[in-house]
Amino acid sequence: MINKLLKGNAKFVAGEFKPNEKYYRTIAARQSPKVLWIGCSDSRVSEDVITGSRPGTMFVHRNVANIVAFNDVNISSILEYGIVHLKIDDIVVCGHTRCGGIAAIEDGVHENYIADWLCIASGAKVITDEIAQKHKLSREQKLEVLAAENVKLQIKHLQSLALIKNMHEKGSLPRIHGWLYRVETGVIDVLVNGRTGKMTKGLKALES
Ligand SMILES: [Zn+2]
Repeated sequence: MINKLLKGNAKFVAGEFKPNEKYYRTIAARQSPKVLWIGCSDSRVSEDVITGSRPGTMFVHRNVANIVAFNDVNISSILEYGIVHLKIDDIVVCGHTRCGGIAAIEDGVHENYIADWLCIASGAKVITDEIAQKHKLSREQKLEVLAAENVKLQIKHLQSLALIKNMHEKGSLPRIHGWLYRVETGVIDVLVNGRTGKMTKGLKALES
């Protein structure tokens, strides 16, 4: 597999980098990403690939279940650098279907660090349990709703961080978008419109 990656790099250099050398020379001099991406570490949710983006487009933070933690210096420093220094106006929080982290929130998990981490998303399960009961959702539907509710909860966490809160109090930036990527179809559903703040159900499970 490792050799395959290096061969892939040679292919990238020949087929993408060299033909677009001017673009890559520009971003080599200075990065100027337009979007700050907060996504899941899942191997199937590669932000560049699923959005058809070139290197240089997104400043990226990924962790298990795309969580925004209050005491995480990692995400805080990424937000500070991305927003204050790189002047990024748009943040995308992107969850996905068939997420192992989301299934672990639903089922419970006993591994120490994973359990502690997923605790930060437990509020999404409380909301989802109510929705699932009301709409008599199947397990699969419930996991989909939980993935979406987790995106909405992590956006609330983002909006509560002093850095973002202070900026929002002064104006409307940064815009925060909530997305759900469907690993079964490759399609992204918009859950939270970053321009209007409007939340959509965006879920087949709740449309009927
Ligand atoms: Zn995931």
